[in-house]
Parts: sequence; structure tokens; C-alpha cells
Amino acid sequence: MDGPDTAPDRDPVGVDWYDISPACSHEEFLAVVKVYAREVVDRYDLTASVSDLSWEVSTRAKRRAGAVRYRDGTPETVVLTWDHFANQGWAATAATVRHELIHVHLLNEDGDASHGAHFRELAERLHTHVHCDRFVPPEWWVVCTGCGARLARYRESKLVTDPAQYRCGDCGGPFRVERNATDG
Ligand SMILES: [Zn+2]
Ligand SMILES: [Zn+2]
Repeated sequence: MDGPDTAPDRDPVGVDWYDISPACSHEEFLAVVKVYAREVVDRYDLTASVSDLSWEVSTRAKRRAGAVRYRDGTPETVVLTWDHFANQGWAATAATVRHELIHVHLLNEDGDASHGAHFRELAERLHTHVHCDRFVPPEWWVVCTGCGARLARYRESKLVTDPAQYRCGDCGGPFRVERNATDG
């Protein structure tokens, strides 16, 4: 098998590229998602069963691109955030599907819901992100003036209102707070 084609208009794991736009219905969207998920599962021998899982769209989630709901270590539902798809398109959703499928696989394998070493290994193979996407810009960035570490804050926490009380966990440097200029 050839290596993955990383051309920007192709799927990074080589699955056929779907041309759906946010004008589609949630049902159409989930149908395409499931076809895509099945191909990824086959290709990478994941233990996820696409048809045993519930697939849902969230129109309320703001900060997460997707999530896996599970009970007693058993994955039950994959939730995908509509705004993420509407704002960033199919490529971003496909990467999220791959990310969530890794969670499902590792939950099945050994009840592991973390982004630990196994997750990172698979994320690399499946060309997806390790950390769940933060796709709504935070209200504030708390920036370490020592090492430049940037902490996202969505609420006016104590760190935001009184950064002088805190020091960077990485380098011990002081923080400054930047109000994020968002235009929606
Ligand atoms: Zn995750
Ligand atoms: Zn620092």
C-alpha cells in the first residue's frame, strides 16, 4: 500500500474525499460520517464497530469538536459538533472522526479514555490531532513572559483577573493577560 497522500485536497489517510457542505442535513452529515468512519476502521484494523455506536450531532457544543460518551469503559456514542463542521469544513470533521475512533478503539482494548502513549501512537498513524480541538477562540490568553507558554481561558478566572498571583508551571515566569480580539 502506498503511503498516505497528504495533498491538501485529499484525505490524509487516503479515504475517498467526500464533498459535503454545511447545507446538508444532520442526517446526510451523519450518513457520510459513518461511511467515512467504516473505511477508517477497516483500513487501520480498529476495534470500533460503527454500526453498534450511536452517532449524534451537537448543535450546542462550542469548545469541543467531538466527544465519545462511554459507560463503564464501553464506548456508546460519538458526538460531533455541528459548528465545527460548519466553520471548518469536512477535513476538520474527518480529523475529528479519526480522533474519536481512536478513543473508541482504546476504550474497547483496555478501557483507556486518555490521550496517553497509545493514543499518541495511533494519532500519528491516523494523521490526527492528539488534543481535542479548541475551535472557539478563548476570551483571554494568559501568556508566560518567560517561556511564551499560552494558556487559553474562556472565563474570567482568578488567573485572568489577578495573574500576578501565579507563576508559570513550566519556567516559573510571570504571566500577562491578553484579551482576545474576536469578531465572532
Ligand atoms: Zn480526545
Ligand atoms: Zn513559562
